[in-house]
Amino acid sequence: MTTVLVFLDHAGASLAKSERELLSLGGTLGDVVVALAGDADQAYLDGVGSYGVEEVYRPDSGAVSDVLVAGKAAFLTEAVRVSGAGILLLGNSHEMKEIAARVGVRLESGVITDVVALDGDLTATKADFAGSYTVSCRVTTGVTILTVKPNTFEAVEAGLPSAPREVQIPVEIPPAVARITGRTDKPVSGRPELAEARVIVAGGRGVDGNFGPLEDLADALGGAVGASRAATDAGWIEHSAQIGQTGKTVSPQLYISAGISGAIQQKAGMQTSKVIVAINKDADSPVFEIADFGIIGDLFTVLPQATEEIRKRGL
Ligand SMILES: Cc1cc2nc3c(=O)[nH]c(=O)nc-3n(C[C@H](O)[C@H](O)[C@H](O)COP(=O)(O)OP(=O)(O)OC[C@H]3O[C@@H](n4cnc5c(N)ncnc54)[C@H](O)[C@@H]3O)c2cc1C
Repeated sequence: MTTVLVFLDHAGASLAKSERELLSLGGTLGDVVVALAGDADQAYLDGVGSYGVEEVYRPDSGAVSDVLVAGKAAFLTEAVRVSGAGILLLGNSHEMKEIAARVGVRLESGVITDVVALDGDLTATKADFAGSYTVSCRVTTGVTILTVKPNTFEAVEAGLPSAPREVQIPVEIPPAVARITGRTDKPVSGRPELAEARVIVAGGRGVDGNFGPLEDLADALGGAVGASRAATDAGWIEHSAQIGQTGKTVSPQLYISAGISGAIQQKAGMQTSKVIVAINKDADSPVFEIADFGIIGDLFTVLPQATEEIRKRGL
């Protein structure tokens, strides 16, 4: 049976949804072991164990988290070697992609990013060139290293919590690395992380500085708020909310686009969403080409009506 190494870098109080998805996907491919970079309490480790994971690899020093990517790449390379893994699964953030690339170079192995589907023979599906092409590809050299988009694979129900065995991995941090000199906690919004959210309400230039109606709808649906670059560049919302080619890539179950024209660079970050609803007052807007449902109208009329109806129905 193939050993599948899943890299978890979150280590919060409980497993994030994207982490449960990775563990579930791993379970369909072989025996799952985990490499864990951050601090983790027993409840978190028990959660990992509830996915049938019997072994967790951890770096022998906290130094891997004091430097950017290089430390985690060094740790992960060793974890692959020690575990004998044939498949390595990571999340799909920019950081994870860079770590995957570095591990790929160290192990002379192929890397596929942005994976949205996987066949039994490990043929992966991904969108390329800002979403213009859907590509099927397979790693033919070394370990199969895949970065997997959140919300594309189902997270299975966990079993009973159980403590996995912990294995310390000696890690040598390369001397020429960028060191982290300080950290600031993100303000807590109470909304889900953009990359993790099942529902996203995204606004563009049409919002004209007022994200209030989008936030109301997002809260009614338990979703996150995203934005086009026009909106983040205007300073109406923080840059971390940007979706698209130079922003985040998201694949929620429902993406509500309001006052966004649907430029190719915006589409690149959201077109693998399961259902896309577009609200735009211009009937010729290109966003309607990729929308499953389109509403031609003023977002300041449409969104409050939708929010009111959803709250009334208790959805
Ligand atoms: C290298 C590069 C990278 C880029 N990366 C990104 C990226 O990551 N993400 C991204 O989003 N863009 C990116 N862009 C920018 C992209 O090309 C577009 O300029 C941008 O997406 C436009 O944002 P928008 O749709 O909000 O604005 P616009 O194109 O101006 O569209 C605004 C829309 O709002 C509609 N509207 C106006 N008022 C209302 C109303 N009251 N109700 C309903 N609809 C209304 C209008 O009809 C219009 O369709 C990138 C560009 C380049 C060159």
